[in-house]
Amino acid sequence: MTPSAIPGPIDPPARLLMGPGPISAYPSVLRAMSAPLVGQYDPYMTQLMGETQELYRGVWATSNDATLLVDGTSRAGIEAAIVSLVRPGDRVLVPVFGRFGHLLAEIAERAMAEVHTIETAWGQVFAPSAIEEAIVRVKPTLLALVQGDTSTTMNQPLDEIGAICERHGVLFYSDATASLGGNDFEADAWGLDAATAGLQKCLGGPSGSSPITLSERAVEVIRSRGRIEAGIREDGDASAADFVRSNYFDLGMILDYWGPRRLNHHTEATSMLYAARECARVLLLEGRDAVIERHRVSGAAMLAGVEGLGLTVFGDVAHKMNNVVAVEIPAGVPGDAARAALLEDFGIEIGTSFGPLHGRVWRIGTMGYNAREDAVLTTLAALEQVLRRFGASVPAGGGVDAAADVYRGAA
Ligand SMILES: *Cc1c(COP(=O)(O)O)cnc(C)c1O
Repeated sequence: MTPSAIPGPIDPPARLLMGPGPISAYPSVLRAMSAPLVGQYDPYMTQLMGETQELYRGVWATSNDATLLVDGTSRAGIEAAIVSLVRPGDRVLVPVFGRFGHLLAEIAERAMAEVHTIETAWGQVFAPSAIEEAIVRVKPTLLALVQGDTSTTMNQPLDEIGAICERHGVLFYSDATASLGGNDFEADAWGLDAATAGLQKCLGGPSGSSPITLSERAVEVIRSRGRIEAGIREDGDASAADFVRSNYFDLGMILDYWGPRRLNHHTEATSMLYAARECARVLLLEGRDAVIERHRVSGAAMLAGVEGLGLTVFGDVAHKMNNVVAVEIPAGVPGDAARAALLEDFGIEIGTSFGPLHGRVWRIGTMGYNAREDAVLTTLAALEQVLRRFGASVPAGGGVDAAADVYRGAA
């Protein structure tokens, strides 16, 4: 490369990320990520790791000792939980109500589980009785259930599922990536054995770190598997199938890295640890309930706003996540061209959709740092302009007025 061909430094355009994730990060999270690095076994690093664990116990509402980060995006946490809890041949039940249920099923298949799914229509959630009925029929060792599925915006109620799993001796895992921090989540009170998340939704950070929490029962299952330490198999009599079928995602090894032994496994992603710690710190500083309430109000404002623009909301609104809404693209409006106009002319990103909803709905998020009145009102004002440009007839100011009313009512 000649010097003149070398690209300039990174200088991203100003963007307001109002899609289903990733979203604009809290400014203090970006500042934390630019802090100088320390060594893996620097006492300061060990201190930060311990603080991060304690902060996430607050975020998850748990006293689980095994509360830590898996390095990688949200699916790193998902994969670590599933490959570490499931032995080949184990039965896993996955209730599927959107794209991410299919992902959990696929990962469990790859872990060589015998996977059983039940499905409900996109835009709906499962009644606890439907899940219990499937548990009785399938007799799984693990239930893997998404909490909030951004593909459909639905929020599966989890509060009764832990007791059902307990009754039937089933481990209960939930992917709370899209919902944690913006909707209720009570790891202990709801009887979760494992839960994973990511930073790039309601936690207000970049993707690249996956918070995870594990009950004592889950840790026992992980500990009961064949152990490998520093590349040497410790359990001579364990069968090959007993060892976790991944080195990177072997939670037994990751727990030893985070635990008092601080046994070397990977090299903790230092800047992502800073980010994850800051995400949890700002959440707890504002107050977990206050942050969830801010998501509830901003979600209600965005919902009222899109309805004020005459748009139709997709799915069972009573079970919608606080932090994302799906709206039907009005007839005659070219969905992708309208999204491109929002991005190019207003610097605002909203989301497209997958699977059966592709081309039918846009998804608009109000999460983390962007669960904010000015972000909501700006997005609605821009959306109104773009809809009109593409020939939709929209009530002038109808979106902003309706959303502002929600904020005034909540004040
Ligand atoms: C967004 C999302 C993910 C994302 O996974 P990444 O690996 O971070 O891209 C996973 N699960 C759910 C439920 C999500 O909504």
